[in-house]
Amino acid sequence: MAEETIFSKIIRKEIPADVVYQDDLVTAFRDVQPQAPTHILIVPNKEIPTVDDVTAEDEPAMGRMLRVAAELAREEGLAEDGYRLIINCGDHGGQEVYHIHMHLLGGRRLGRMLGGS
Ligand code: AMP
Repeated sequence: MAEETIFSKIIRKEIPADVVYQDDLVTAFRDVQPQAPTHILIVPNKEIPTVDDVTAEDEPAMGRMLRVAAELAREEGLAEDGYRLIINCGDHGGQEVYHIHMHLLGGRRLGRMLGGS
């Protein structure tokens, strides 16, 4: 069993978060430090630390994350102008919370793919 992060407590509604979607496989909530007008995190309900830990049994949750991201992007009015989905993996990927999460970012032109150090 992976070590639990704060995201598991958000999924179980044990600590407050702005949850915008939840089903049997995934939960989505607004990032506490938004980097764009829309910044939502989509996470599997199961504790999976990184993309490197994904197994075949996780494929339904991984697919659901993508579909929910697209649906939330539509709801947020981002579909026409576009948006960005990011999953950071590990130290060099800049991952801070070790429970897989997909960032949905949009609402402004996001510029270059990689910025900063
Ligand atoms: P990453 O660097 O890809 O691991 O992203 C972690 C993200 O989680 C950052 O954008 C944080 O702002 C966000 N975050 C950390 N704690 C919380 C929280 N309690 N509620 C919402 N977002 C959070």
